[in-house]
This record gives sequence, structure tokens and C-alpha cells, in this order.
Amino acid sequence: MKQKIDKVVIVGGGTAGWMSAALLKRVLGALVDIELVESEEIGIVGVGEATIPPIQHVNAVLGLDEAEFLRETKSTIKLAIRFENWRKQGDKYYHTFGAPGRSQPFCHFHHFWTRARKAGIESNLWEYDLNYLCAEAGKFAKLQVDDPLWELKYAYHFDASLYGQFLRKYSESRGVKRTEGLINDVRINAESGHVESLVLRDGRVIDGDFFVDCSGIRGLLIHKKLGTGYEDWSHWLPCDRAMAVPTERFKETLPFTRAIAHSAGWQWRIPLQHRNGNGLVYSSNHYSDDEAAAILMGNLESQPIGEPKIIPFRTGRTRKQWNRNVVAVGLSSGFLEPLESTSIYLIQSAVVRLIHLFPHAGVTAALVDEYNRQSQTEYELIRDFIILHYYLNERDDSQFWRDAAHMDVPQRLKQKIALFRSNGSLSQDHLDIFLEPSWLQVMLGQGIVPQDYHPLAGGLSDAQLREKLANTMKLKKEPLPKIPSHDQFLEMFCKKA
Ligand SMILES: Cc1cc2nc3c(=O)[nH]c(=O)nc-3n(C[C@H](O)[C@H](O)[C@H](O)COP(=O)(O)OP(=O)(O)OC[C@H]3O[C@@H](n4cnc5c(N)ncnc54)[C@H](O)[C@@H]3O)c2cc1C
Repeated sequence: MKQKIDKVVIVGGGTAGWMSAALLKRVLGALVDIELVESEEIGIVGVGEATIPPIQHVNAVLGLDEAEFLRETKSTIKLAIRFENWRKQGDKYYHTFGAPGRSQPFCHFHHFWTRARKAGIESNLWEYDLNYLCAEAGKFAKLQVDDPLWELKYAYHFDASLYGQFLRKYSESRGVKRTEGLINDVRINAESGHVESLVLRDGRVIDGDFFVDCSGIRGLLIHKKLGTGYEDWSHWLPCDRAMAVPTERFKETLPFTRAIAHSAGWQWRIPLQHRNGNGLVYSSNHYSDDEAAAILMGNLESQPIGEPKIIPFRTGRTRKQWNRNVVAVGLSSGFLEPLESTSIYLIQSAVVRLIHLFPHAGVTAALVDEYNRQSQTEYELIRDFIILHYYLNERDDSQFWRDAAHMDVPQRLKQKIALFRSNGSLSQDHLDIFLEPSWLQVMLGQGIVPQDYHPLAGGLSDAQLREKLANTMKLKKEPLPKIPSHDQFLEMFCKKA
């Protein structure tokens, strides 16, 4: 049987399919042929509009012009997520892409802040973070600064369908072959057990050496054909349905996503240039679809455009995301609710991992094992971060939230919480996309108060500490008056395209 990989076939043309096609073509295009098969009759899931900052690496690798990208995908800037009613009703906090203050070696800024609080010097930690200041003020600019103190870290909100089209145009113009057709059968080589071809409804056969399964929740190759198992995480994350509806745009475009908790789920609000994305993620054990629709439609702030669409899901991950000569990317590889906008990142990370471990001379157990080890850890770390938001709630208004507060969370998460609670320390896992400032903001936002602080923060007198905090805040706020509104930025920047 042939071992060498000369042709990669991508199954599916959603975000996962076209992002895989664009990245694989850009990096490995000289080594392999790439063909993508999709069926317009089946269509794409068509949601997935908020991202996290690593998306900029994708754009950089693809060599995209940012202004053109923003204009074509109707993107807006995302500086943060604002969590509303998560700790308790009426409460809100931000998870920004920035970090508070300026850290010194061995001692993060929040230790000084904790020490100050203990001394009765109260301030809002987020006010030392330029991302927060700009998010609250509805501002954004691409700051050219040498000092990380004034760095604005950002991602995008974009229209999922336009993003797919954008990547499709990119990929096809660089030689990715697109085949339209409904896949009816998947043929396996009797000797190796590897997938060798796809059979379309009209009888056409598409051969390949390696397959990227981007067929969405169906998992046409990875599940339906290869029967790879699925690890269910719904005992930790019981939401199992989403209802999405676009609405008319607001007058002012917020530079952040809103995640608003309800009694058995939460609602997203994603501002785009031409409309808003809205949806409710909920548990079907607690809300019927009619109840969910009433909550969603009753909490829109502008007129709906079209009917709400229901998307069922099962939280968890595909046990072997690389099985034989198939790698599952996108929804076929697992699903984590979009609370921290991680699915598109997981697509990116899966393709980058595949490129690093590409089996050009043939699939080996060592490559497969390493790929699966990394994928599993990455998924679990994100899962734990999402669980954190639910687990650390103080709501008592529904069984959903009471159950969440009393669940038995994964051991690694328990340890992280205990460590932070004891003295504000944060542990960083190598494969965790969420760095220490992210864990810090969510732990504090959900109400953990560290009992102690790092000893290096204890070396200042109260007066010195007060001065340090005041100076840091003054410095952080310095660029604010010169930064335009987010809408002004979008107008000026997109015109450049
Ligand atoms: C409610 C919700 C909200 C989300 N929000 C976010 C978010 O804010 N941020 C984020 O990062 N992610 C988000 N996601 C996840 C994101 O939408 C997905 O990761 C992304 O769209 C990838 O989907 P996909 O390409 O894997 O699948 P799909 O879009 O479902 O594409 C599947 C493709 O496979 C093809 N196909 C399937 N079967 C066949 C067949 N038999 N023959 C031929 N072709 C076939 C289809 O035609 C289609 O092209 C969200 C997901 C949901 C459900």
C-alpha cells in the first residue's frame, strides 16, 4: 500500500474546511495537492463569530491585508468579553485580552493590588488594564507602542458566512480544488483500514492519501465510518442546545462580546459592522425550546432579522482526533460551548499541529500519538476554563446554578482554584491557550479573593504602595484621550482597504 502523502482531501466547507484548506495550501502547497469536497445542499452551521487574538497568526501566515479582511468579513474589534450575571445577578466583570498593571520579575501586579486591598486601599483591578479602559469607553486604535503597558490585544467579531467565503476565495485562487457534491459513501482499504476514497451521490469517486474531516457535527469519516469514540463532558457542562438569531445593528458598535447569564444558560451578543449576532446557549433539561425562544427574543435590543435557528450539540471531544489517516478538525473533533470563543481557535490549532506533525512519508504511531496527546490536553484545559465560570457562581435563583456550584470539577481545576485562593498564584500549562491574566480575571470576577499575596509585594510601605498604584493607573490612562471611538476606527481603517 502507498505510504507517501501526495494528496490531502478535506471533507466539508465550513469554517473548519476552508481554514484548513487555506493554511495547508499556504504552508504545504508545494508538497501536496489539496481538494475540498462540500455539499451546498447540506450547508454549514453558520455561527461562530467571535474569536480570540491568535486568529491574527492565521492572518499573518496567510499574508492577509487587515483592512481588506475587516471590510470583507464585516468584522469589528474584540477587546474582551463582558460577563453579566455570572457571579450573581446584577454583577458584571470583563475577561479582557490585556493584563492589569505592570508586573515585575517573579511578582505579578495583582499581588500588589491584593496587598493594597488588605491595607484598605481599594481600587478596581481592571482599571489598570488598557483593554478594559478602551472596552468600557467604546474605543480602539492600532497603537504603535514599544511598551507593553500600552499594548492593546485584540481579536475580531466577524460574519461566519463571509469569513468562509473569504477563505474560499483565498484558497481557490491559490490552487485548492473545490468539488461540489454530496458524499454518499466512504471506502476503506481492506488491508490497511485507511480511508482511500469518497463516493459522491452521482457516482464520482474522490481518492486521497490523507483526509481532514471537517464535516461538522456529523463526523462523516471520524465517527460514521471509523467509529472513533466520543468522550462526553455534559456532566460538567450541561448546556446542550443553542438558538441563534441575527438582529439589526446598534447605533454604537461595542468592541467586546457580551455573555449574559440567564437562569439555565446564557446569551451572547456579538456586534458586527452590518448586524448583531445573538444566541442563547441552554440546557434542554431546564428550558423547552419555546421557553428558550421566549427568553432569547425577549432579550434582544434590536429588531430580529429572520427566524431563530436551533443547534443541538453534545459537549465533549472525539477520543482520537487523529485516527488512521483521518484528522478531525472543527465540530467533528468535539464541541465546547462558545463562552470563550474557542472553537475557531481549536480549528487553527489543529491545523497548525497537523502541519508540524505532517506524515509526509506515511502515518506512524508516533505522529498519531503525539498529535492526540496535545489535542486532548488542549481541549481539557479549555474545558476546565469554561467550567470555572459556572462552578464559581454565587447564584441561588435556580437549580441549574446551584448544581453548577456543587459539581465535582476535574482535579487539575480544583488545584488551580486552591492555589489562587491561597496566595493569588496562578499555574500556567504549556498547552493552555489561556494565559495567567485570563485565569486571574475570571477567578477574581467570579468572586475568589486570594487569602495572601506574594512576599515581594510586601516590601513597600502603605504610602509607597498607594503611590505605585496611582502612578500605574495614571500611566495606563494616558493614551486614552487620543484613542478614537471603535466606530471611528472602523470607518477610517476599512476605507484604507
Ligand atoms: C451556537 C454556536 C455558536 C458558536 N459560536 C462560536 C464563536 O463565537 N466562536 C468560535 O470560535 N466558534 C463558535 N462556534 C463554533 C463554530 O461555529 C464552529 O467551530 C465552526 O463553524 C466550524 O464548523 P465546521 O466547519 O466544523 O462545521 P460546519 O459549518 O457544519 O461545516 C460542515 C461542512 O461539511 C459538509 N458536509 C457534511 N456532510 C457532508 C456530506 N455528506 N457530503 C458533503 N459535504 C458534507 C457541509 O456541507 C459543510 O460544508 C459556535 C458553534 C455553535 C454551535
